[in-house]
Amino acid sequence: MGSSTKYIFITGGVTSSLGKGIIAASLAKLLQARGFSVTIQKFDPYLNIDPGTLNPYEHGECYVTEDGAETDLDLGHYERFLDTPTSQANNVTTGRIYNNVITKERKGEFLGKTVQVIPHITDEIKRNFFKLGEDGQFDVVITEIGGCVGDIESLPFIEAVRQAKWDLGQNNFLVIHLTLIPFLAAAKELKTKPTQHSVKQLLEAGIQPDILVCRTEYHLPQEVKKKLALFCNVQLNCVIEAMDASTIYDVPLLMKKEKLDERVMSKLKLTSKTNTDLEQWKDFLGRLKNPTQEVNIGLVGKYVSLPDAYKSIIEAFIHAGAASECKVNLTLISSEELHADSIPKKLEGLDGVVVAPGFGERGLEGKIEAVRFVRENNIPFFGICLGMQVAVIEFARNVLGLEKANSTEMDPESPDPVIGLMEDQKNIELLGGTMRLGSFPCELKKGSKAYQAYGKAKINERHRHRYEFNNAYLNKFEESGMFASGINPDTELVEIMEIKNHPWFVGAQFHPEYKSTVLTPHPLFVRFIKATIENKKTK
Ligand code: GLN
Repeated sequence: MGSSTKYIFITGGVTSSLGKGIIAASLAKLLQARGFSVTIQKFDPYLNIDPGTLNPYEHGECYVTEDGAETDLDLGHYERFLDTPTSQANNVTTGRIYNNVITKERKGEFLGKTVQVIPHITDEIKRNFFKLGEDGQFDVVITEIGGCVGDIESLPFIEAVRQAKWDLGQNNFLVIHLTLIPFLAAAKELKTKPTQHSVKQLLEAGIQPDILVCRTEYHLPQEVKKKLALFCNVQLNCVIEAMDASTIYDVPLLMKKEKLDERVMSKLKLTSKTNTDLEQWKDFLGRLKNPTQEVNIGLVGKYVSLPDAYKSIIEAFIHAGAASECKVNLTLISSEELHADSIPKKLEGLDGVVVAPGFGERGLEGKIEAVRFVRENNIPFFGICLGMQVAVIEFARNVLGLEKANSTEMDPESPDPVIGLMEDQKNIELLGGTMRLGSFPCELKKGSKAYQAYGKAKINERHRHRYEFNNAYLNKFEESGMFASGINPDTELVEIMEIKNHPWFVGAQFHPEYKSTVLTPHPLFVRFIKATIENKKTK
């Protein structure tokens, strides 16, 4: 571990979904704003090796990093807040820890010893805790422990945190416990007991939290704070109130007001290098909260009942909307409910339509009909990954007259596989792992909408898909007005398709949403919003 690197661990109590990720990201933002280099990592207690195989309905979207790691969606918050990339090392699951230990065991690396949770699993957890801090690149490493204190699954992580204190030594280690102070409407009272209990559980595990961050719907009166301090064994000024906020992007400022960063710095003996600089952040908030116009956008997809499945897209629209001082009203539309006759009614009032990423056949026909409607009615369209593939299929069927055109993902027997696996993928397919993951270069055609958005020709974007545009059909498409405006220079794979004679019709094979941050809204989202604003004016 880097000798000067400070480690902050964030645990959660009482319930899940208290927003540890947002608190971690907000604290990191405040420290970054004072000139420290900070990274955040998430340790998830479940047994999947990574979230790549998780159903988005259960865990929300799978976030993809530059290096192609499939990770927890909290990493998206970390990047959006900090504007710095994360990597595979920033997300570790119990499954990965066990996998590493068992692999070592099979290789005989434990020299005949009995392999146990303590010390072998906890040592492996600690090795991963300290990995990012090792080369001294970061002043502070914040580690979010997923789940709740007391869960059977998270016990080894909590034990590893306890041990880490002794490895790191005084002033280098800090635990923040995020908890809930419920308000009992009948008694008209804020209740501290659940927090007392969850801190007791931490104490039983040998961990004394240094700071309590208390989620609450109402201000915490001084007496409540005093009670929490007394019973939970923390300093009074280390009981931090975290009131519900109207946007997650307010949380860094709320935490600053509560002096979370100052408490952390004083406990870790960190001296600030500069004054807090949050000017750009505040500027963003100003534009976000004072829109001068608004647009209605439909997001067509299959996972509409859990908006977390589209987390990065939703956030990218918030960033891009703020860039134009425009409120974006995003409506999630289930593709399964879209049929040719219901479409005009459902899509008519929209200023723009996005077709979302996704896997599998369900809802495909509805998506195709939606694309047809926006293409024919000159409504701005933005297709993301599967959304781009659907646009290609729609164009093939309805403009090129290839009635049975499809992606081989949906119809392996299609006579016109306009989207399919590449030859080299077909061979690897037998071995599994054919997904194109992570960042790839792309070259944009001058004069295209994509080029106009980015303002340059060479870009890099992140991918997470298996199927590709079938280049055997490219000439046909281009002759009829849909052209490849972005091509991977190394492989010739088509990365962006556009329609010439349309106000804004762009489909990207990659996932632009992963790279949109508060300070760097994504150019394609920004341009799409501008196109929807223009479209609205013409109505
Ligand atoms: N299912 C498509 C593919 O694998 C698209 C994936 C996606 O939208 N992320 O190529």
